[in-house]
Amino acid sequence: MREHRRRGHERGIHATDPHPVARLVVAPHADDEVLGCGGLLAKYHHESAVVVLAEPEAMRAAEFAAAQEILGYSTAYFLDLPDGSVGADMHGLVGALDTVLDRCRPRELYLPYPSVHQDHIAAYEAGIRAARLSLTPGHWFPPDVYVYDVAAYDLVLYPTDLRWNIFEALDEHHVDTKVKAAMSYGSQMVTGPHPVNDLKQCAQTIGAARRVEWAEQYALVRSVRDCRSAALYTGDVR
Ligand SMILES: [Zn+2]
Repeated sequence: MREHRRRGHERGIHATDPHPVARLVVAPHADDEVLGCGGLLAKYHHESAVVVLAEPEAMRAAEFAAAQEILGYSTAYFLDLPDGSVGADMHGLVGALDTVLDRCRPRELYLPYPSVHQDHIAAYEAGIRAARLSLTPGHWFPPDVYVYDVAAYDLVLYPTDLRWNIFEALDEHHVDTKVKAAMSYGSQMVTGPHPVNDLKQCAQTIGAARRVEWAEQYALVRSVRDCRSAALYTGDVR
């Protein structure tokens, strides 16, 4: 696992220390974090982190760093797995996510919708396994688990009972920041009608149906409400 911290955020933090954040976004590929959670990351940049599963090639790594700078969140983790087969070693992937969860100890975990792409399905499945209540000492149990909407795939491989039922209201500034971050991924640009070219309009449509100007949508997988933070760390449970 590699860890990258934006300039000005490194001081006083050691590689083995916990670095708690409120939210952790699991991105199968560099750009999923922007398409699915860019508004959320812009809104809560002080208390969010991202873990990228597939190793980005050099240009995409630079684009990711530019997008991170725009969104303003401090910490990214990279598992550097092979693009297209991040789930080839599912046991290893779950273990790596366990390590990141232990370091971040988030209250909210965001996973990609298990759509048609095998890396998105693997990220979802490994994320759900990593979010399990485990008897393994030291395993972090994130109380809230959500699925985010990448909106780039019009088909799903198998039916799920996930429904878009959580809506994060955003300011126009958050949406504009998301669009700007998405534009930093020049290598992933497409022309013509496509959800990635309509991020602002999508945010407006999602928001309007909930009587807010702008929003991102999520599906709630699990929420353990009002739990004591000490009990979230399985090793501390008696
Ligand atoms: Zn992806």
